[in-house]
Amino acid sequence: MSSPWQEAQEPVLALSVVIPIFNEAGNIERLHKELTAALRGIGRDYEVIAINDGSNDKSAQLLNAVQAHDQRWHIIHFRRNFGQTAAMAAGFDAARGEIVVTIDADLQNDPQDIARILAKFDEGYDIVSGWRQNRKEPFLLRRLPSALANRIISRSTGIHLHDYGCTLKAYHFDVVKGVQLYGELHRFIPALASQMGVRVAEVPVADRARRWGSSKYGFGRTFKVILDLIVVVFLLGYFNRPLYVFGAAGFLVGGVGTALSAYLTVFKLLTENKIGDRPLLQLAALLMVLGVQFVSTGIVADMIMRTYHESQHKPIYYVRERRWSKPESQDPSPESAEAGANA
Ligand code: UDP
Ligand code: MG
Repeated sequence: MSSPWQEAQEPVLALSVVIPIFNEAGNIERLHKELTAALRGIGRDYEVIAINDGSNDKSAQLLNAVQAHDQRWHIIHFRRNFGQTAAMAAGFDAARGEIVVTIDADLQNDPQDIARILAKFDEGYDIVSGWRQNRKEPFLLRRLPSALANRIISRSTGIHLHDYGCTLKAYHFDVVKGVQLYGELHRFIPALASQMGVRVAEVPVADRARRWGSSKYGFGRTFKVILDLIVVVFLLGYFNRPLYVFGAAGFLVGGVGTALSAYLTVFKLLTENKIGDRPLLQLAALLMVLGVQFVSTGIVADMIMRTYHESQHKPIYYVRERRWSKPESQDPSPESAEAGANA
């Protein structure tokens, strides 16, 4: 089936709300009601993009029913369950709003909080994150790992947020179009976007109990988050020129190895002692080989980054705004310049 949908190059309305949905049948009608009330209250032009992430309950029918009588809702049905990150990525691709708000379908976030998030956004931020100050979830299995993760992500990315895991966040159009998401990376968007140069703020939001159904995640998520964290830290730290980082490590390690073997050589030549059975010799050889490996890994990583940037036309810089003067006003008097050239 053909569809009129096309990815927007620039925003055409004020607000897009993106909702990932996996088996939330019992929440959808209430979600529609609460969200509509909240968004009407805000009074901006909006669209809602609901992504049905391969639900196998009645979510699909219920979403279609909502869309049938509410023109502002658009539904994307995935062929199977691809995960929350993929669902959000599909929403971001489709979004046409200047501000893109993400929210969970289970009503753990309160749609009424969107108004305060937008108010903050209007102060001139690119990302405004919800911060669940009174979380309702179990301490040991949910809040403790997430507090630790928030600390580590904040430290290692320089974007300090108390609650990376809160889905209720608002992003500028440029941010959602600019970040590439894989795995479970949706919770790291503010960190990934730090690459672009973003202004980030936090707003305390309510955390409510899930309305219906159960959480889609267990403790296993913690491990995925840790692995994702490693990737994010790597991506951020080594992004443009991995060779600089690997190369520095390579020079350091290789340098120590070379110094050690120089010492051993001098030692042998001056004292006529045997050095063949010295553990230091093995260490020196090991360090020199490691040094070469670091440098060559750096070169390979550099080539991969090149492919990444060039194949996707990824810029190495991001512009917040362009203020372009008209050609006439840029060049005060082209005639006089020409006259000067003729003279
Ligand atoms: N979700 C999704 N695909 C998945 C898992 C979850 O779209 O594979 C949606 C889910 O329907 C909900 C949101 O992501 O709207 C957050 O999921 P959940 O409430 O289970 O996470 P928790 O609140 O327990 O962190
Ligand atoms: Mg939830």
